[in-house]
Amino acid sequence: MQETGRQLRFSNVAAICDSYMPLIAKNHMDTLVSWLPGTVIHIREQEEGKRPPKFSYEKCVIEASLYRGNIYATGDATVTQIMGRLYGSARGNEEKERKNAELIRKRISRELIEDRDLLTRLIDSIKNKVASLEENVRYDLCLDLLEFSFELAEVRTGMSPLERDAEAAAMDDEVFDGIIYNAAYQLNDFSVDGTARAILWLMLGGLLRNEAGRVYRVFNSAFVPAFRQGDLAASILDKLEALYFNEDYEDTYSGDDLDKRFPGIEWMCDSCGAYLNVQDGFDDHLPVWQCRKCGYLNRILAEDIFMNEEERERNHSVNWEKMKDAIERRKKELKG
Ligand SMILES: [Zn+2]
Repeated sequence: MQETGRQLRFSNVAAICDSYMPLIAKNHMDTLVSWLPGTVIHIREQEEGKRPPKFSYEKCVIEASLYRGNIYATGDATVTQIMGRLYGSARGNEEKERKNAELIRKRISRELIEDRDLLTRLIDSIKNKVASLEENVRYDLCLDLLEFSFELAEVRTGMSPLERDAEAAAMDDEVFDGIIYNAAYQLNDFSVDGTARAILWLMLGGLLRNEAGRVYRVFNSAFVPAFRQGDLAASILDKLEALYFNEDYEDTYSGDDLDKRFPGIEWMCDSCGAYLNVQDGFDDHLPVWQCRKCGYLNRILAEDIFMNEEERERNHSVNWEKMKDAIERRKKELKG
């Protein structure tokens, strides 16, 4: 059986992050509330004391009380079982608690989709933690999370489909790859924002497992779908390696529209988003193109070509020299 230490579980992500934070949480419930407040656990108001936590079937949350500044976590076997499932430490066979943990996951993913403020609150709270770290400490945290992501990708790539399905709280490849790829992508620039987003998605992936897929599909704009990166059939490990060790990879081009200045490139209007390639008279040899739909003047330049939305926001245009080489190789190939 696979060790849970090498799985995408909330406990593993939190353990890495907590080791860089000044305050160490006292128990699993403290950790969850400190990183993802308002998700799994709701703190009872105006109550201090050793009152055990309780799973509310109606609200599908764990209600807990504070005792001397920490959550009073003991005294209820159902809660302990559910927490173990969500946290990633329990492997028992209590079917009912497994089901309850799954219901909590579904409820949280639904709330994240319906209530955009919740996601904003979560990201802000993580950002505050990350921003409090010295820059070199943040850098180490990024490297640690990156190493963890690569390790998970490696383990996953080495598993058979049957082994993947047999995982506790199994996760579809699409969801797993999406979470890991995006976390690695966010960690790429070592910024406070990127680090916080990477932590959020790793934690949500670990906590919600397959249910995280629903959330990240909705927030696509802040997210790079892994399928856009290279070969569809490539393993998540290949994708991460292409992301981080890009200089080792040669671009390839397989299209045949070589009469164009920018073969294979789809131009979208920067103002209205219209697809320009199909507009009447469009020619990518022109320096600018006026959108037929909204009238906006779009530059047609190599530096305006981006791999995806995220890259565009960061103003990381594609490496046109590498793309040109790929096109040249394609031309030779077609000539035979
Ligand atoms: Zn337009």
